[in-house]
Amino acid sequence: MIDPSVLELLPPNLSALARLAGNVWWTWNEGGESLFRDLAPHLWRECLHNPLEILRRVAPDRFSQLTVDPSYVGRLEHLSRSFDDYMQQAPGQHASIRASGAPTGSATWGHLHLPEEAAEHPVAYFCAEFGLHESLRLYSGGLGILAGDHLKAASDHGLPLVAIGLLYRNGYFSQRIGTDGWQREVYDDADFDALPLELVRDAGGSPLLVEVPIRGRAVRIQIWRADVGRVRLFLLDCDVEGNEAIDRWITAHLYGGDAATRIVQEIVLGIGGIRALRALRITPSGYHMNEGHSAFLVLELIRERLLRGASLDDACAWVRERAVFTTHTPVPAGNDVFETSMMRDCLQGYLDDFNGQGETIFGLGRRHPGDEFEPFGMTPLAIRMAHSSNAVSERHREVCARMWSPLWPERSVEESPFRGITNGVHVPTWIAPLMRRLYAEHLGADWLERVDDPDLWAQIDRVPDGELWRIHSLLRARLVAVARDGAEQQWRRAGESDQLVRAARSILDPNVLTIGFARRIAGYKRWDLLLADMDRALALMNHPERPIQFVFAGKAHPRDNEGKRVLQQILAWRGRPELLKRVIFLEGYDHFLGRKLVQGVDIWLNLPLPPLEASGTSGMKVIVNGGLNVSVLDGWWAEAWDGHDGNGWAVGEPWDPASPRAINPSRDRDAADVRAVFDLLEHQIAPLFYDRDRAGIPHGWVTHMKNSIRTLTAAFSASRMVKEYARLYWPGTSLNSR
Ligand SMILES: *Cc1c(COP(=O)(O)O)cnc(C)c1O
Repeated sequence: MIDPSVLELLPPNLSALARLAGNVWWTWNEGGESLFRDLAPHLWRECLHNPLEILRRVAPDRFSQLTVDPSYVGRLEHLSRSFDDYMQQAPGQHASIRASGAPTGSATWGHLHLPEEAAEHPVAYFCAEFGLHESLRLYSGGLGILAGDHLKAASDHGLPLVAIGLLYRNGYFSQRIGTDGWQREVYDDADFDALPLELVRDAGGSPLLVEVPIRGRAVRIQIWRADVGRVRLFLLDCDVEGNEAIDRWITAHLYGGDAATRIVQEIVLGIGGIRALRALRITPSGYHMNEGHSAFLVLELIRERLLRGASLDDACAWVRERAVFTTHTPVPAGNDVFETSMMRDCLQGYLDDFNGQGETIFGLGRRHPGDEFEPFGMTPLAIRMAHSSNAVSERHREVCARMWSPLWPERSVEESPFRGITNGVHVPTWIAPLMRRLYAEHLGADWLERVDDPDLWAQIDRVPDGELWRIHSLLRARLVAVARDGAEQQWRRAGESDQLVRAARSILDPNVLTIGFARRIAGYKRWDLLLADMDRALALMNHPERPIQFVFAGKAHPRDNEGKRVLQQILAWRGRPELLKRVIFLEGYDHFLGRKLVQGVDIWLNLPLPPLEASGTSGMKVIVNGGLNVSVLDGWWAEAWDGHDGNGWAVGEPWDPASPRAINPSRDRDAADVRAVFDLLEHQIAPLFYDRDRAGIPHGWVTHMKNSIRTLTAAFSASRMVKEYARLYWPGTSLNSR
């Protein structure tokens, strides 16, 4: 929310800054970031890229300077006009768009493909985390970032969507690495007044409250609104006066707690989310459970029908017609289960509304409904109650069909109704501004509107090799600068020696083949493979003609001591001179660092243990920036790699669904995969990268970059993804007549 005293200070011709800061639209549109950064570059970093915070803190005489700077004022006017135009094309504005005589080009995909009524009944998209920008710390990793990208793409394409999530006071943790190499977690208190959030109020001006029953107590929830372009995101917050102290903590931490914390958070998200929609007078036409955390919403929908006199069967059928579910991981930690006793305890009282059928309800959350010893699983509940259950890649669909086959005892695995809608990334969010301009110049100013059109990318050869290479090399140099900065800051903060802090200024080399490896530090991501053959790694890094260098980032879950130990081993190289120039681990992998990494690397490396990577999205972000993927054939890469090393490289054998270990992988393949990675780097990748013409351009490499851009950008864009989901959201419309 904008601080009123800030508004008073802003000169009239700069007042649009406040309006822009109130909607995260600025984060993915050209010129948004630079407008806020140019207010005061140092302060921008100190404010953690939070525009409302910088507007609060910038010195008044800086405003006096800018108010008479025609270039700055012009940029601001241009951006605020684009924002206004964008917001006018809200879903449902069919009539006004036609009446304005605007060219049909300004109508969105939603205007062209969905009936006007769809806007009155949006789809409600539920998720426990949303990764929109580093300044809004409502996410931990891939799931949240994917959900954030989904909202942005839905906004761009005019899909009528509202989103429901939780507002975490402390969010996920900030990562701090001590001089001992051990990860520590720091939780900061968010200042909601400095975030682009509006507390939702009732007609009388008091905060709009809803209540959910937890352990027989009524817990009050207030609702905040964040605007993501044209999509409204409602965030639920239990830190409300009148709640018992312990209940005010429910929405403090993201994924911090044990099962007892998670179940109450999930009651708030699912049951509270439906109640919030009712209080907001929004009547969705459908409900998308993005991961099982929100699946309690189906209980509330069933309860509503029962209270209106429906039978349990009819209530379930009603819900099933409207619910869509996406599961995001086969790893047990991502599929919450709760003991029946805990369910009874937390939902006491609430279950009274189910006409004595509480035990039947518990069966909905089990693979085998009659097995009263089986705990209640959020994933089975969601699968049973959705008309469409989705995996996030083709490979993941095959895995889910096996994993969840007990839910369809009458069907074979081949007949599983699971669908695969492969994830995609929001290109305007992840692309480097320089690349954006390069494409605009050579592919047409409207290229972003056609980002999911393969015909657009078929023309990538219009971009001259030399220019693509020059821009890419600039972006690599920028990443090196970001790494030096980051290293200096993190080492100084940790209390490392002056010598090491000084050395930060000269780590890495802007001209060396740069490999990025950033992901959660979890067992199946196999970070430890990097340590498996240190001698060979050292030799490759310090090769006299064809050196390589690594940039690492990632967090271990606060309770994952095994992960922290692996990280500590990786960090043991600090101070070893032969490595200092070639490897850096950057603290605090977040949206910002994610962008800089995917924009600057030559190679993005991914070594998960098949088949545990459901999709993975970080590798998709490098494509449009010209980076190349080297990955195990799992998740998205199993369907992306074109098989003859034209658009990247594959490590090791693909997963074999017929193998007895199909869904219980063992790590037998580790040694072979390590060898395969180093063989690729040594014999194919480095030689191709360093094979230059007289002007220093590696044409073979650039051909690979173009192959990757040509064959992958459209298919792995969030534009493609949300349009596929639209067919599930609005099943009766013309979308499905083809
Ligand atoms: C994209 C992204 C992720 C998810 O990437 P994976 O490939 O699934 O590991 C996690 N964290 C951040 C900060 C990201 O940008």
